[in-house]
Amino acid sequence: ENRIFSGIQPTGNLTLGNYLGAIRNWAALQDDYECIYCLVDLHAITLFQNPEELRRNTREVAAGLLACGIDPKKHILFNQSQNQDHAELAWIFNCVARMGWLNRMTQFKEKAGKNRENASTGLFVYPNLMAADILAYKATHVPVGEDQKQHLELARDIAAKFNNDWEKPDFFPLTEPLILGAATRVMSLRDGTKKMSKSDPSDMSRINMTDGPDAIAQKIRKAKTDPEALPSEAEGLEGRPEAQNLVNIYAALRGVDVETALGDVGGKQFSEFKPILSDVAVSVLGPIGEEMQRLLQDVAEIDRILCEGSERSRAITNPILREVREVVGFVQ
Ligand code: ATP
Ligand code: MG
Repeated sequence: ENRIFSGIQPTGNLTLGNYLGAIRNWAALQDDYECIYCLVDLHAITLFQNPEELRRNTREVAAGLLACGIDPKKHILFNQSQNQDHAELAWIFNCVARMGWLNRMTQFKEKAGKNRENASTGLFVYPNLMAADILAYKATHVPVGEDQKQHLELARDIAAKFNNDWEKPDFFPLTEPLILGAATRVMSLRDGTKKMSKSDPSDMSRINMTDGPDAIAQKIRKAKTDPEALPSEAEGLEGRPEAQNLVNIYAALRGVDVETALGDVGGKQFSEFKPILSDVAVSVLGPIGEEMQRLLQDVAEIDRILCEGSERSRAITNPILREVREVVGFVQ
């Protein structure tokens, strides 16, 4: 039996990276799989969040997922803190994962920055909570962007060690990542070597899903590029991270591969290509942004959807957690 789980942090505006790397695929998978999608607010507070902003972002990200076609009737959409099983299993995994494994995680190094002594301990054990999110459902597949591949490998290591330590060979599945589409790692518009992120301090580094046509056009116009025209073959993008990124975005938005995209825009100067890219971005994001604004008029309805989703999520995880307590040896 296949079961999909994935999460997104309510840490700010949804970006084009979140859309192309994750949410668009989440919507498509609903036709063929049982899907559980989670707003991971416990993950968000690994970096301090203003409480009012956290609540607002949670509702906004929920509206974003709904606007992209996530169906909360057929599938499950909820916020993580409303299901305590995630946190309980994460504690058990804190006792399974090894310090050495977590020391290798590149996201921690990036997010902690230079002053590692001052990072929260939650930020360090973030991947253990992520493993708990997935394994509390015994999920088999996790659709994510390229940046989460390392954390998924850690989740497999945790599952394997748990199964081995307590001699339950098939207890937790070894979950597979699903990294789908032409833009699995969308880069910052200001720096082609840095991932586009919703928590980046520079708003010019990303396209937000709520940006209007003028903001999108301006950000793409100002996006960093090199002086050469676009190549006609994909190999010509090697060593040109900014050009590569913009062409990947263009291809992914149009739903074609990079070769096909270059068949249309190869040979063009950026001055000619950028307005074409803006038009495609506006035509995809415009309707989603408008639907988000409409949904956000009724916050009570969003809260109701999340509450009901959390109830249905607990119906899946409660029996799995009972089994886990039994395996570990807790009296219950
Ligand atoms: P933050 O800066 O707070 O970490 P984020 O933009 O990285 O925010 P997450 O909530 O960490 O977003 O990740 C949600 C999903 O979006 C994950 O599946 C992640 O792999 C995917 N994702 C995030 N950024 C990108 C990107 N630039 N390109 C492709 N996928 C991305
Ligand atoms: Mg992230």
